[in-house]
This record gives sequence, C-alpha cells and structure tokens, in this order.
Amino acid sequence: MFTGNTDVFVAGGGPAGLAAAIAAAQRGLSVAVADWARPPIDKACGEGIMPDGLLALRNLGIDLATLGAVPFEGIRFVDAAGETHARFPQGIGFGMRRADLHRVLVEKAESLGIHLAWGTRVEAIRQGEAIVAGQPIRARYIVCADGQNSALRPMAGLNTGKVYRRRYGFRNHYRLRRWSPFVEVHWADCGQMYVTPVGVEDLCVVFISSDKHVRLEDALPAFPELHRRLAGQPLSGKTAGGVSVTRKLNTVVAGNIALLGDSSGSADAITGDGLSLVFQQATALADAMLAGDLAAYQATHRRISRMPRNMGELMLVMDDHPWIRRRIFRGFTQSPRMFGKLLAMHTQTISPLQLGVNDCLSFGWSILRA
Ligand SMILES: Cc1cc2nc3c(=O)[nH]c(=O)nc-3n(C[C@H](O)[C@H](O)[C@H](O)COP(=O)(O)OP(=O)(O)OC[C@H]3O[C@@H](n4cnc5c(N)ncnc54)[C@H](O)[C@@H]3O)c2cc1C
Repeated sequence: MFTGNTDVFVAGGGPAGLAAAIAAAQRGLSVAVADWARPPIDKACGEGIMPDGLLALRNLGIDLATLGAVPFEGIRFVDAAGETHARFPQGIGFGMRRADLHRVLVEKAESLGIHLAWGTRVEAIRQGEAIVAGQPIRARYIVCADGQNSALRPMAGLNTGKVYRRRYGFRNHYRLRRWSPFVEVHWADCGQMYVTPVGVEDLCVVFISSDKHVRLEDALPAFPELHRRLAGQPLSGKTAGGVSVTRKLNTVVAGNIALLGDSSGSADAITGDGLSLVFQQATALADAMLAGDLAAYQATHRRISRMPRNMGELMLVMDDHPWIRRRIFRGFTQSPRMFGKLLAMHTQTISPLQLGVNDCLSFGWSILRA
C-alpha cells in the first residue's frame, strides 16, 4: 500500500471514489484510493445511467458509447391502470453491467497513475490523516466514498441527518434480447420491477420493495407483462441484493474531509439517479479541492441532490398509495405530454418553472377526473 503524503486520499473505490480520484488527478492533484474489495466490484444495481450522468462521465474522459454500453432512449412506466413513455429531450441513457463499469473506471484511474490499493481496509480518518491497513497516510483532503453504510462518516462528525426510508432491491440478469428502446419501470402494489438492457442478450432486472422478504421470482406474477416475458427464462450471472436508502444529511463537509456518493446521502433507487449524481458530485468535489474551497462543493452537492430527492419522494408516494398511483397513471394516459415534461425535469433539461401552467392544470384535472 502507498504510504506517505498525497493531496487527496479517497476511502472507497466504488463508482464515486474512482470518479473523484480521476477528476482530481486530471486537475493535477496526487491521489491515492483504498478499497477493501477487489475489482471488478459488482453490486445490486439497475445498471442504467441517465443522460446527465453520461455527460459528467464524458467530462472525466470516459465515453461509454465506445465501450460496449447499450443505449436507451427514455423511460416507460407500466401499471395495471395504464402505460406511458417518453424519450429524453436531450441525449440518451446507457446500460452497462456494474462490474464492467467498474472495470472501465479502474482502467482510467490506472492510466492516470493514481495509487490504487485493493483488498485494503480504511480503518479510521481524521483531519489530514487516514489509517489504512494499520499505516498512517497524510493527505490534504480526505474523501469518504465508502457507500451507504459508511463507517467513516461518524468519524468525520458528519452523521447528522435523517433516514426517511429503506427499501430492498434484488437483481437478476436474464439472457434475453431487449423488446423496448426504453428502460421500463413496472409498478404493482408490492413494489416496482425495472428492466435495463445491458448487452445484446443481457437484461438487468431489479425488483425493489418495502418488504424485505419478497424475492424477484415470487413477485413476478404481480407484473403480468414481465411475468409473460421473463418467467422460466435463463439467468446469466449471480443474483444480488442491496438496500436502497433515502437519506438526507445536514452537511457533507467538515474541514478538509468530504463525503461523496451514497455515503453523502441518497435518493431511492427507483429514481435511477444514483450513478448520475455520483459522477456529477465527483467533478464538483475535484473543482472545490483544486480551488481550496470545500464550501463550494457543499453548495453544489445540495443543489444537484434536490431534484432526485423530490422525484424519489413523489415515487414513494405512488408506492405507498396504490389509489394515488392509479390516478396518476390515468392522468399520464390522458396527458402524455406531462410524463415527457416530468422526465425532462428529472434529467434537469427543464426547470420546475418550465413545466407550464396549462399542462399542470390539465394534468391535475385528469387526475381528479380519473
Ligand atoms: C437495488 C439498487 C438499484 C439501483 N439502481 C440504480 C440504477 O439503475 N442507476 C443508478 O444510477 N443507480 C442505481 N442505484 C444506486 C447506485 O448503485 C449507487 O448510488 C452507487 O453504487 C453509489 O456508489 P458509491 O461509490 O457511493 O458506493 P458503493 O458502490 O457502495 O461503493 C463504496 C465502496 O467503498 C468500499 N468500502 C466501504 N467501506 C470501506 C472501508 N472501510 N475501507 C475500504 N473500502 C471500503 C466498498 O467496498 C465499495 O467498493 C441502485 C442502488 C440499489 C441499492
């Protein structure tokens, strides 16, 4: 393991940690990363990256279009009460297996000469120092990118905030061709199932629910269209499970320590925004470290987290109250433009103010009549 001094030490080499390391190295800072796992690191994930996340990745010099990722044009919502879909107003999304994405990030980090220590636990952090596999490392900045259950967050005094919701996700890969140009999100009373194309004959399917005891295969009959397409089809690769947490922290910076990625708070996984946020945060953090102004990172972090969190809250209301969900779906069917506008807002192509009074009124009216 690297010992000595570095400008930036990153605890956790998942997507957030590696993206921040890459962005910092590209700005001329010396960087070391430690992760207790070994690459390629897999994780339960929907494996879709939204257009704004791809833009942030391209700014890191990574173009997934040239690296075997699979494009999707927008989002389709399906429920017993109806279906609606919309294309992204700008750009496209990409699906890529999580382990492949990790491989791409590791290769980029290696090409920049970043010190990478795999199979190495970060035991403690404090201002200016991390204890890594028993050895001290001095660093001007410490970045905690150690995920949802961050053990380092409390050591930085940054554990104040609130957990609003925990849900449980299960991922399978099916050896099947895509049937749709969209990422599909299917809704039922037991939760949501969403499908992302990640290869020519490779579909990532995630079931997410508030009930930790229901598994994807058990829930499948509640989603008639998916049941018809997926039941009995061959799986490829391992099933994985994970917890999706809606968490908001009061602050993500203490002195020269910054939280990043899921350790810095998160919206529900159904938003599909986790990775996009991570890549945007990484760039903002690297800019702030270069400028010596982590307060700027705190401000940008707050701004870019707002929309995913609001969208996550709306979708959790739809999850909690089937009758509201059914009305909203009927509203979407009658005012299909509204779903397109909400998607544009979600991907930050338009601001909430640009939703338009007429569209909002006609959508509200169709929900009331539904
Ligand atoms: C079910 C589910 C579905 C999802 N679907 C999507 C989706 O479709 N699209 C999307 O964009 N996002 C999705 N997300 C969210 C996305 O997976 C996360 O936002 C993303 O993984 C966050 O990356 P991270 O690097 O912050 O954390 P992680 O990926 O958790 O990485 C943290 C890293 O830190 C390491 N680590 C932890 N502690 C230590 C330590 N003490 N020492 C050394 N290393 C340590 C771990 O080994 C790990 O590699 C989903 C999440 C879930 C749970």
